[in-house]
Amino acid sequence: MNLILFSDEDFIGGRSAVLRDRRARYVIEVHRARPGDVLRAGKINGRLGQARIITVDPEQIRLEVDLTEDPPEPLPVTLLLALPRPKVLSRVLRTITVMGVKRIILFDCWRVEKSFWSSPRLDADRIREALVEGLEQARDTILPEVELRRRFRPFVEDELPALVNQKLAVVSHPGEADVPWSPSSEDIVAAVGPEGGFIPNEITMLEQLGFRRLSLGPRILHVEAAVPALLARLGDR
Ligand code: SAM
Repeated sequence: MNLILFSDEDFIGGRSAVLRDRRARYVIEVHRARPGDVLRAGKINGRLGQARIITVDPEQIRLEVDLTEDPPEPLPVTLLLALPRPKVLSRVLRTITVMGVKRIILFDCWRVEKSFWSSPRLDADRIREALVEGLEQARDTILPEVELRRRFRPFVEDELPALVNQKLAVVSHPGEADVPWSPSSEDIVAAVGPEGGFIPNEITMLEQLGFRRLSLGPRILHVEAAVPALLARLGDR
């Protein structure tokens, strides 16, 4: 945890805040914090700064919080991610958050197992947990938005044209890249497929909307590896 991330409910008045949960345990057990120590802090969807420890009790910590800095610049990428298997989902969401993406759309397609959609890992609380862990790791405060699209065709036909409008759009797909990738300062819409890959018809539909294929090399990467590899490349401007 590289940042103690506060939410409105942690504040007890003015700049005073109290922590009682895993953050308090982390500060006590890992930081071995004492009164007077200063930690990096931030507020969800707010600013960054410092928190000075006032008191440490076995069940809670009281801190004085001073937030004066802006969070880091987001990565201007909207990520369309075929819903991965539940075990992978939380890890991938954390990684995407660490890399600075602020809009994530989890979508269905042919090779997404339908049972994945009933996983408890898609509950809003579980998703938020993964996003918050990503923010704590990256020292960021702005929570990404996560949206779910349970039907591929209506998503692609009715929604994607407006989303892609005037933006650079890429679909990460093993094989020869359609167009060689060069760094760009444009906003980007990027799609990553499911474990079994996109079927040809899905790639065609995306290409008809202007998506260009982007290859990450000759190796077939797990989704967990493909996502950061893709975002690192798109972030290289
Ligand atoms: N057998 C599948 C195929 O050939 O498409 C492999 C799918 S891979 C496990 C899951 C997703 O990660 C792919 O749909 C793609 O979006 C991305 N991916 C994996 N390796 C890639 C590569 N070398 N280049 C571009 N994208 C890749």
